Amino acid sequence: LQVTCAPFRDGRGVLLGAMAIFEDVTAWISLDQLKNEYVSTVAHEIASPLSSVLSQLQTLQRGLAGELNEKQTHLIDRAAARVGGIVKLSKELLDLAKIEAGAMGEKEEISLGELISEAVDIVSVKADEKEQKLKAEIPPDLPSVLGIRPAVLEVFINLLSNAVRYTPEKGDISVTARALESGVETAVKDNGFGIPPEDHEKIFERFYRVKDANTRMIVGTGLGLPIVKKVVREHGGNIKLESAPGEGSTFYVFLPFT
Ligand code: ADP
Repeated sequence: LQVTCAPFRDGRGVLLGAMAIFEDVTAWISLDQLKNEYVSTVAHEIASPLSSVLSQLQTLQRGLAGELNEKQTHLIDRAAARVGGIVKLSKELLDLAKIEAGAMGEKEEISLGELISEAVDIVSVKADEKEQKLKAEIPPDLPSVLGIRPAVLEVFINLLSNAVRYTPEKGDISVTARALESGVETAVKDNGFGIPPEDHEKIFERFYRVKDANTRMIVGTGLGLPIVKKVVREHGGNIKLESAPGEGSTFYVFLPFT
């Protein structure tokens, strides 16, 4: 049951009473659940076979199945990039459906220092390929927060992999954290392409991607930040962005202790 209440006034704004609308929303909810299950099934059916196609293409890329000529390398690189894009999209759709269904897992005490170094390890492969400096500075006595571990890990993997992807070679990326009165504030900072002010809100909308010459060629889905925002909100936290074109970006994530 959904209840909406509003004051009821006459033409001059004098309060006459209140109005309440009682709506039976059972049908919407089950439709939402159905949509969610459908998206999860389709995403899973796509992600599994394509992940194996991708790893076969990567075997070819690494020359493990014999040396390739220039034309073959070019074609396989393009195929791997396209397939990689679809795998990323289906995994992200699966994540969103899981968050929406409340199926990411149970809350537990999380040491953000450990979790962030796990995320750093995961993205460091890509950072090394671009010769970027990637460092985490987390105080050893940082208090833990209560959260769903895989979901919070996803937040930092997404923010860090964005920092790596949207920063040119030899750039600097850092993660810091500090305890505030009611929770922990982390900052993921890069000195990459930056984001124009008019896009600061929009990048958190599903499928939105900034259109500019620097980032046009970077493969993406526009789903990473909506996932980040949703997880942070579900934890009672918030996310802020400081960024300008050519001046890099800093994403601040606040997570409450409880
Ligand atoms: P994706 O990266 O797959 O496109 P996201 O939702 O993670 O999806 O990001 C949305 C858009 O926000 C990106 O397409 C990019 O234009 C911009 N963006 C995100 N992070 C950064 C960053 N660290 N630096 C510059 N631009 C960024």
